Amino acid sequence: MDHNSNFIRTIMKEDLETGKHKEIITRFPPEPNGYLHIGHAKSIVINFGLADEFNGKTNLRFDDTNPLKEDQEYVDAIKEDVKWLGYEWDELRFASDYFEEMYNRAVLLIKKGKAYVDDLTPEQIREYRGTLTEPGKESPYRNRSVEENLDLFERMRNGEFEDGSKVLRAKIDMASPNINMRDPVLYRIYHATHHNTGDKWCIYPMYDFAHPIEDAIEGVTHSLCTTEFEDHRPLYEWVIRECEMENQPQQIEFGRLNISNTVMSKRKLKQLVEEGYVDGWDDPRMPTISGLRRRGYTPEAIREFVKETGVSKSSGIVDAAMLEHFVREDLKLKAPRTMAVLRPLKVVITNYPEDQVEMLDAEINPENPEMGIRQIPFSREIYIERDDFMENPPKKYFRLFPGNEVRLKHAYFIKCEEVIKDENGEVIELRCTYDPETKSGSGFTGRKVKGTIHWVDAKHAIPAEFRLYEPLINDADENEKENEEKTFLDCVNPNSLEIVQGFIEPNMKDVKPYDKFQFFRHGYFSVDPKLSTKEKPVFNRIVSLKSSFKL
Ligand code: ATP
Ligand code: MG
Repeated sequence: MDHNSNFIRTIMKEDLETGKHKEIITRFPPEPNGYLHIGHAKSIVINFGLADEFNGKTNLRFDDTNPLKEDQEYVDAIKEDVKWLGYEWDELRFASDYFEEMYNRAVLLIKKGKAYVDDLTPEQIREYRGTLTEPGKESPYRNRSVEENLDLFERMRNGEFEDGSKVLRAKIDMASPNINMRDPVLYRIYHATHHNTGDKWCIYPMYDFAHPIEDAIEGVTHSLCTTEFEDHRPLYEWVIRECEMENQPQQIEFGRLNISNTVMSKRKLKQLVEEGYVDGWDDPRMPTISGLRRRGYTPEAIREFVKETGVSKSSGIVDAAMLEHFVREDLKLKAPRTMAVLRPLKVVITNYPEDQVEMLDAEINPENPEMGIRQIPFSREIYIERDDFMENPPKKYFRLFPGNEVRLKHAYFIKCEEVIKDENGEVIELRCTYDPETKSGSGFTGRKVKGTIHWVDAKHAIPAEFRLYEPLINDADENEKENEEKTFLDCVNPNSLEIVQGFIEPNMKDVKPYDKFQFFRHGYFSVDPKLSTKEKPVFNRIVSLKSSFKL
């Protein structure tokens, strides 16, 4: 449990106590090049959560420095997801709001002899950079005069040069043991339309140059990011210092969230969407916030899960079962319990009067009696689950089979008297008898049965569709191969979605999108917001009831 202490909170507390900062200011800085995923939820909870604790502020800032990949659709989706997770940003900002300021700071670097325009091609720049064991080589353009650099940089801005023909680079140290410090590129040319600034710019700043300036402009005190940026920290500090920024934010890294059997990279998620493996970014199998929402996850469950994973420098792999655990916990007392038959088999109760219908009382949630009582109709024809009948059962099968008696949940004992089959020998109907003495709640103690099964009344039940999910990715170690180009698409589970048609209790006739239920023995389900109709609701299974996960 890491609710009480983590190293970032400790730093913030000290900075307030020593008077280094008067207020904590953080930011959540997504690039609008895809939808947010559960990994981003971790960054959101940490940034907003910690600032909240100290009565500080958090900005939502879009890091929109690459017009080739960014889109307004993503901006809108990200805003919706952050709000849905339960957070309010102080200010909404865009990196592109600061393009002019960034340009001026780059000019300052040139004037100080700390930046130069380079004509090497991208391939040459890569070659000249050297390796971990070999120092880099200086570009022949490195010692251009300040005047020439100022002139060329202005002309880059004015659109005089082709994409890729020139870049602006920091002049630091080509022999630095830290490759990030070997004259990193600060600006590149893209003749591309930007979602915010349109065609105003054709040069765009690199992340490593833009990010510290954005943080400093906004007065961010603690710039929290994931550990892959640890080696970039000297450059972050170099930019703040050499650009003479007034505020000096501190970059602090924490370990990424990884989850077993889960792809956690916008690039890969985008590929799943674009290549049709899933039905959009909000497909209920996706680990996106919008996918989890549509599946039926609650913001509370996601926040509690993320908190439980803690804040540390290391990034282990969390078992996907842990996320499921938290949604069960959240819904246990909130979700009404009802019965749904997913794969129906008709049962005729031959000794039940033809035209009679009786209403049975059932608790809505035995763990939360305040939720009250619902009524369920019962009559001569019902549906049970196909799996709850076997003609030739193995030992220890306690559900229905010829001659056996079971309890119908909330109703009576029934006994299987006859099996009706079609011409292919498939069971299509059962004939049973019921015992009126055994009514649920009547205190009947005459004899016991070993199995209790669920059912719905055939005449009154509402048809419904159920969507049952398995992990989208079969390989538990997917995230460990992050850098390998061996395609993760090979691990896509072809059986990740099963659609079945069944019935629900008639008291559920007015369900609305995102309503959540616990279907007896089947798990937690949520009404799909896109596919449901008034006539036929569609339910996504959030999770089954059983869990092997122990906290
Ligand atoms: P991806 O690799 O999925 O594209 P990203 O890091 O490039 O993610 P950004 O939009 O740059 O995506 O991320 C915004 C913030 O969310 C960053 O501060 C980033 O560190 C954080 N973040 C992204 N993925 C995770 C994760 N798995 N765990 C924790 N924080 C994350
Ligand atoms: Mg990124």
